[in-house]
Amino acid sequence: MLDQLDAQSPDALLALIKMHAQDPREDKIDLGVGVYRTNDGATPVFRAIKAAEQKLVDTQDSKSYLGPEGDTGFVDALKPYIFGKDAAMGGRLEGMQTPGGTGAVRLAVALSKAAGVQRVYLGTPSWPNHAQILEDVGVETGTFRHAAPDGTADIDALLDVIANARASDAVLLHGCCHNPTGVDYTPEQWDRIADALADSGVLPILDVAYHGLGLGLEEDVAGVRKVLAKVPEALVAYSCDKNFGLYRDRVGAFYMIAKSADDLPAITSNANALARANWSMPPDHGGAAVRTVLRDDALTATWLDELAEMRERMRRVRERLAAADNDVPGLNLATLAHQNGLFAVLPLSKDQIVSLREDHGIYMAGSGRINVAGLHEGNTAKFIAALADVTG
Ligand code: PMP
Repeated sequence: MLDQLDAQSPDALLALIKMHAQDPREDKIDLGVGVYRTNDGATPVFRAIKAAEQKLVDTQDSKSYLGPEGDTGFVDALKPYIFGKDAAMGGRLEGMQTPGGTGAVRLAVALSKAAGVQRVYLGTPSWPNHAQILEDVGVETGTFRHAAPDGTADIDALLDVIANARASDAVLLHGCCHNPTGVDYTPEQWDRIADALADSGVLPILDVAYHGLGLGLEEDVAGVRKVLAKVPEALVAYSCDKNFGLYRDRVGAFYMIAKSADDLPAITSNANALARANWSMPPDHGGAAVRTVLRDDALTATWLDELAEMRERMRRVRERLAAADNDVPGLNLATLAHQNGLFAVLPLSKDQIVSLREDHGIYMAGSGRINVAGLHEGNTAKFIAALADVTG
């Protein structure tokens, strides 16, 4: 039976990690893996999280089961940050904890399917797992171009898809810090998207995986809020794995916004049933740590400082790369200053990416995606010189 299985292609980024680890060159640069790094190349535990974890160790008196909805205090504590002052939304909003943003995206797609969605539109390129989840859940994938060659969002492609969609379609949008392009919609474009979604009745699934890593906590969800202010119903997938540095603890949340408060119990009961069948209940620790941070003013202030420091550091790297636009013609580095978050895609050929790796010890995904946070004061000049070398 099991011998009938065909081998799946290995994860390309994991293969890259291995190659990078085996490279003896001391000045090698890892721009592959999607985690934040400090100016020293580290991915440390947040100070706010360390303190919250200590509090948990000292005070937690049981590890008995929670329900499929996880830690509701965690889910509620995030709401004002995501949904703003009017987080109650007239009783139309309910949330639950999930294993990472991945669990939340999976639940959003599975719940959409259970509600009758047959096709989900996805801008391309996207986080590769989006397409895998759509396929695995068993909905049709529709695509549209996310970014134009000039490094801005192809808003017309999205509006066209929404205008021509069927009533049983959904559209999956990145809330901010688009992975892999870094290309986000402008506030004016979000206004148009919100109007188009409201007119069409297409179900929006909004994936917020990098909240606070783009322009700011409020700015990064302004587009999501514009959509939610206009549409009757929507689903939001949220990750705390980047903005609280909790990656391996798998911390996410899933929010459902219903047409009417009366619809909410049936919707959440379906989401709970799907969660039970998928993972029963989410891991507790990371969500409890986030709740502990957000319920403590001093820890919240520390978290906000740490997040601002990350955001500002990535902005400085982006500006440094953009300033080198003239040194490396053809790569459109200037556009990086107007893009957000951890990632950017450089229009490099396969040969150029191989040459960066083999000749310069610079590791990046085969798509040309770089992790901006892999660069810092000590290696950015080398990276720019290597780009000039392989493109020259
Ligand atoms: N959505 C997007 C766009 C992502 O890039 C990621 C993580 N790479 C996720 C969701 C899922 O994040 P998590 O690690 O919390 O599962």
